[in-house]
Amino acid sequence: MTDEAAADFETVHGARPSGVWAAPGRVNLIGEHTDYNDGFVLPIALPHTTRITARRRADGRLRLFSAQGDGTITDLALDRLKPGVVTSWAAYPAGVFWALAEAGHAIGGADLFVDSDVPTGAGLSSSAALECATAAALNDLYGLGLSAPELAVLAQRAENAFVGVPCGVMDQMASACCTDGTALFLDTRTLEQRHVPLDLAAAGLRLLVIDTRVKHDLGDGAYAALRAGCERAAELLGLPALRDLSAADLPAALDRLPSELRPLVRHVVTEDARVTATVEHLDAGRIAELGPILTAGHASLRDDFGVSCAETDLAVEAAVAAGALGARMTGGGFGGSVIALVAAARVAEVSEAVRAAFRSAGFAEPVTFTAVPSVGARRTA
Ligand code: ADP
Ligand code: MG
Repeated sequence: MTDEAAADFETVHGARPSGVWAAPGRVNLIGEHTDYNDGFVLPIALPHTTRITARRRADGRLRLFSAQGDGTITDLALDRLKPGVVTSWAAYPAGVFWALAEAGHAIGGADLFVDSDVPTGAGLSSSAALECATAAALNDLYGLGLSAPELAVLAQRAENAFVGVPCGVMDQMASACCTDGTALFLDTRTLEQRHVPLDLAAAGLRLLVIDTRVKHDLGDGAYAALRAGCERAAELLGLPALRDLSAADLPAALDRLPSELRPLVRHVVTEDARVTATVEHLDAGRIAELGPILTAGHASLRDDFGVSCAETDLAVEAAVAAGALGARMTGGGFGGSVIALVAAARVAEVSEAVRAAFRSAGFAEPVTFTAVPSVGARRTA
């Protein structure tokens, strides 16, 4: 462990830490709003991580500190944790302790020092990074022997039941399970996963991430409403989930649904098909072919699912107009980030075109970076 990480921990917690764990943020290549419909997703982990320096405590207390927080320690008793009692950022790590205890795992207290370079609220899943780093730390500190997918499911349980966000399992699976140089092709029903090689550099391509730096409040209630709409549609169609509706059966199914549910169903079914088409292209080494699929995915999120916004639409339009092969919003929506597939030689040009378009529209300057598929949660020291 670096002297600096140990010193930071010691300053806050007054003792030496026993280790450091890291878990990444993610971008989803394709497969948006499919994970709570039992469908397919294809995320990559980012090089950006949330790091947790930690040690066990014998007194059953959790003492939680974040370098991105307000400078105070949140001090909680493990046996008093229940949904609703923690309302600050600390609900994410506390929720993981709670979920592990609820599942019957023998854990005790801990001191945590959190530090992260995953942008928060940018659709890059800083929440899953925080949960998965916590889960990885507790798994090792208490010798639980849980697998990465098991930790991801417990992290999702923490976010759903303790924090109160009805998210699917994609973000946590990406943060826990991704490997270097691959995208994670995940069946969210069975959690069957395959690491699909994604060598952007060999194809002369880059994945440009454009963080629009906006998050519209509308998103919070809207996400739950969309999820409920999808579940209602599946129920009306007599299906376990929208994943069970094939593209061939889509037109007939749409005729049987009330008009307000049709676009939701069309998005989910066509999006699942875009994930499998993307994987076929990757398996055949045709990365450049992904461009139009990404852009079609964005149109579906914008026109059918209704989760786009002026900033993400403009980022997609400007990137494609400047020569990106394709672009789409990534993450739940109502702001957040856009990904664009761009020839290596055109990255600067595309980034500048997006910035110029934002200036003309009077939007705040977006943050851009290129992403390489990186590794999931692990112990680093
Ligand atoms: P996203 O996951 O897209 O970044 P969310 O709204 O799901 O957005 O999660 C962001 C929230 O996660 C923050 O508002 C904060 O409460 C919590 N969080 C994430 N990373 C940190 C961190 N390093 N320190 C403190 N809180 C964090
Ligand atoms: Mg999140």
